[in-house]
Amino acid sequence: MRDELSVLLCRRYPRLYTQVREGVPTGAPAENWCFDCADGWFDLIDALSEVVIQYVDVTDQLEVQASDVKEKHNELSFNVHGGDDYIDGAIWMAEIMSAVVCQICGTIDCTAHGRLPGLSPPKTVRFPDVHRPAWRRLVQALDVAVNLLISRGAPEIVVEAVREGESLRFSWSGGNDEIAGCFSLVEAFSQRLGKEAP
Ligand SMILES: [Zn+2]
Repeated sequence: MRDELSVLLCRRYPRLYTQVREGVPTGAPAENWCFDCADGWFDLIDALSEVVIQYVDVTDQLEVQASDVKEKHNELSFNVHGGDDYIDGAIWMAEIMSAVVCQICGTIDCTAHGRLPGLSPPKTVRFPDVHRPAWRRLVQALDVAVNLLISRGAPEIVVEAVREGESLRFSWSGGNDEIAGCFSLVEAFSQRLGKEAP
């Protein structure tokens, strides 16, 4: 990721991007933090960082620091020290979403910069349809993530409504902290896609 974007992330979320990364000398400016991926994932990483830090601010007790953020096999790999189930859920969601967000330009389902890994459709559809194609894709990614968590033992959810305004907003019940983290990430990222996205 180019320097000005890395610096922006470090300045916005100094609690998350400290000097725990290996090879960076203690006391070095946070701006030395390295995001080992292309610029197109900036919004995704920005949304994830915001969700994590807002939660850390609210819970107060919790500490979490990013240790390694990179592209691995065409998908985002985001590693932290600390955190909890909610943060794990948000990270898990961002990593799944990276399969449909172009790492070069940030477009959903981009066809100009090589093949995106894409998503397998969820076995059970738990979410109502939405109108904007880009947001529809985010909802599909959320469906995939939630289905996997439920298949691994998370409690079922009921989605009552999805509101399309400045961002996606979900009314839902059930689930657990990990699933709540997934919802938060999708809501935060949907806001960043902007009005000009389809
Ligand atoms: Zn692209």
